[in-house]
Amino acid sequence: MLSRSFGFELRSARLLLGLAASLLCAVVCPRAGAAEVTVLRNFTLIDGTGKPPAAASALALHDSRIEWVGPDSQAKVPAGATSIDLGGKYVLPGLIDSHVHLGLVDGIAQDIKFYTRELVEQQLRVYAAYGITSVQVLGTDKDIIFDVRARLRRERPDMARVFTSGQGLVYKGSYGGVAGLNQPVATAAEARAAVDEQVRKGVDFIKLWVDDEFGSLPVRMPADISKAIIDQAHKHHLHAVAHIFYLDNAKTLVEQGVDGFAHSVRDQAVDQALLTSMKQHGTWQMAATLSREASFTYTKLPFLQDPFFTRGVAPATIAALESPERQQKLAAAPNLAKYPAVLEYAMANTKREVSAGIPYGMGTDSGPTARFAGYFAHWELQLMVQAGLTPMQALTAATSSNAKFIGAKDLGVVAPGKAADLLVLDADPLADIRNTRRIHTVYIAGKPVPTIWSLCVDRPAKACEGGKQP
Ligand SMILES: [Zn+2]
Repeated sequence: MLSRSFGFELRSARLLLGLAASLLCAVVCPRAGAAEVTVLRNFTLIDGTGKPPAAASALALHDSRIEWVGPDSQAKVPAGATSIDLGGKYVLPGLIDSHVHLGLVDGIAQDIKFYTRELVEQQLRVYAAYGITSVQVLGTDKDIIFDVRARLRRERPDMARVFTSGQGLVYKGSYGGVAGLNQPVATAAEARAAVDEQVRKGVDFIKLWVDDEFGSLPVRMPADISKAIIDQAHKHHLHAVAHIFYLDNAKTLVEQGVDGFAHSVRDQAVDQALLTSMKQHGTWQMAATLSREASFTYTKLPFLQDPFFTRGVAPATIAALESPERQQKLAAAPNLAKYPAVLEYAMANTKREVSAGIPYGMGTDSGPTARFAGYFAHWELQLMVQAGLTPMQALTAATSSNAKFIGAKDLGVVAPGKAADLLVLDADPLADIRNTRRIHTVYIAGKPVPTIWSLCVDRPAKACEGGKQP
């Protein structure tokens, strides 16, 4: 009786305190309620900046932010804080994928009709489970994305954070966008108006496509249209990011002031003229999408039995990917034979640009059919290393560099004041980049989220038991 009434009073008192605190906090303090402090101890820190790893590190999380980072010997654990020993583990910033698409597929069928808030959020949870704590979506979002993004920015997110370009700009009769969503433009005036419309919706940047799908389409976006789009984006102080394939378009776009490339040049080796021009203009190779090109070289993807992949994908999808009908259909596709060379150019050009000092990020182009959320980011890191980058270069691209390009000042680095988005690994990714798959914990805004090793999509958990090592 006593305890019940005491409990009641305590609850009432808490409610009143909470109310008073939230009224006060609406004006002066950043958060209401009791602070949640977690101290992570005794790990090796890879902070995202490219600095050498720091053994025996510790950090303190205060609610959704990183409050302190330093040597474990100096760690202070305040009363009431949770202390977690991460001996033998590696802590990195949560990874960022700079080139994705959301809400486009159901199984392996692709159609914009599948795009719903539920599907988008489900995919953002899959990204999070793989340690991809932020994604940048390249021009194929429905307007519901602005609500999803607003909620993630207003509340403490439990899924990957989103940066969106809304509906990207496609030239009429040319390549790009998705059917039933993107409204192609035919003139520079239409292009400028379309950019303004996206800006009104609140996009984070502008996307445009310059391609003709191996010459199968009659035109590519003409230079006067791309110039109008880039100029208009800059008028609104936004980045313009271009899908490219051909070296000649890349050169024109750099001269026009494009801010980043969403793919590598893939028709030939980049030349010194492009490298010099990119350097002069500060153009980014924002995403190399090596995993995209690699995936197109297979009729049957090589990882369909890899638990790191299968846990995140419905069995029906895997069965569809393995079906003989699909192998036959892909084997007969005219572009299959072209992709080994495309992949080789993409890898060699990535390495050349990095060696030339061009700024670069990490992006996959995952999201369209058979290009999988999260899994492709780990494959991309591996391919970047195969292309000749160091694991540290690949990881820095996926963390602080991507955050810098996006303009997300509180992401991509483990440092005081930054968002507490963290990837904790069981093994050293600098010794073997494939160790990014050894995911121990993923934190978003200071809270652990389910990792891929705890998922088992569309079947009972025990169907996914075993197979933790990649
Ligand atoms: Zn894309």
